Amino acid sequence: MKDPDVIRIFDTTLRDGEQSPGATMTTEEKIQIAEQLARLNVDIIEAGFPAASPGDLMAVKEIARRTRDVAIAGLARANASDIDAAWEAIREADRPVLHVFIATSEIHLKHKLKLDKEEALQQVKRMVAYARNLSPTVEFSAEDATRSEWDYLCRVCEAAIKAGATTLNIPDTVGYTLPHEYEGLFRYLRERVPGIDEVVMSAHCHNDLGMGTANTLAAINAGARQVEVTVNGLGERAGNTAMEEVVMALCTRPEAFGNVSTRINTREFLPTSQLVSQLTGIPVQPNKAVVGANAFAHEAGIHQDGMLKNRLTYEIMTPQSVGWGDTKLVLGKHSGRHGLDARLRQLGHKLSAEELKQAYRRFVAMADQKKHVSDSDLLYIVESGMETPAAI
Ligand SMILES: [Zn+2]
Repeated sequence: MKDPDVIRIFDTTLRDGEQSPGATMTTEEKIQIAEQLARLNVDIIEAGFPAASPGDLMAVKEIARRTRDVAIAGLARANASDIDAAWEAIREADRPVLHVFIATSEIHLKHKLKLDKEEALQQVKRMVAYARNLSPTVEFSAEDATRSEWDYLCRVCEAAIKAGATTLNIPDTVGYTLPHEYEGLFRYLRERVPGIDEVVMSAHCHNDLGMGTANTLAAINAGARQVEVTVNGLGERAGNTAMEEVVMALCTRPEAFGNVSTRINTREFLPTSQLVSQLTGIPVQPNKAVVGANAFAHEAGIHQDGMLKNRLTYEIMTPQSVGWGDTKLVLGKHSGRHGLDARLRQLGHKLSAEELKQAYRRFVAMADQKKHVSDSDLLYIVESGMETPAAI
């Protein structure tokens, strides 16, 4: 079950992602996404928070019934009625995962839960044991772990393991930690908590300071073997760690992470990203890593020239590996003669050196006027010998 060289991908697009303002989805839409996540080959789909509403419970239940060959997790606070609701929702899944959480930071305990540390510790023992009685797989999360006292967190983790937790999640709930600090926390726990090598450690990061991916990768360096991520980095506030970024970092730089791998079918990244964007109505920024419209587009002349000679000059992964067609050489005012020549050849025009010089001069004049020079603009330039259509 526990393979030290495989990073398990726990997708929470349907739970944490759906908590993005405006991202609410219908049950049918959630099922469509769950089916796409199964094609992407994620290990675990967190389908929702069943105690939140009867509608949420029904949606999670439908996903658990209909999505096969993947583990389905349901989230629950550390109390019996939440755990009962989550279990009711996921128990028909091929591999159900009960995900129980409680906050462990002073700020959350005091102001939100009004519990002291000992009371919270007792609740962890009781409720993880209660969950384990129902489900063979139980994940425990220490909410706001990165702002919790490290020694208290060690005691909580030890209690959760003794009570039967099979996965321990150390979330950076508020996007506060830094890569070296998060890595240090994982190492600290691994050195001090009895039995921790018997369970899977999990990272769950938010992007409030834009460090979700960096922090998640740092946790992998320190032994995390599960990462909690979302498609397009959807999620509360500034979002969660983006799945496509973490997975492609591992694919592109395996040697930097001890050659770990994932089971993800990366060619499904683009279709998954587009489906999630379409169903949530939340667009993907053009300069988004991996799945943004410009992620494999090159406009600068020097870059286009390099790409035409050898794509390794400016591309660290192929667009096809994540579901795109070919690289786009965008023609704009930063482009050079080689880029223009390559595009004109694709359009069926093979110009002599002198003709190309002329066409390039007209192209630069047009590119100064327009952000983007289209294929029909290029044909116009070549065929009419002018830079601006007379009628415009
Ligand atoms: Zn979260």
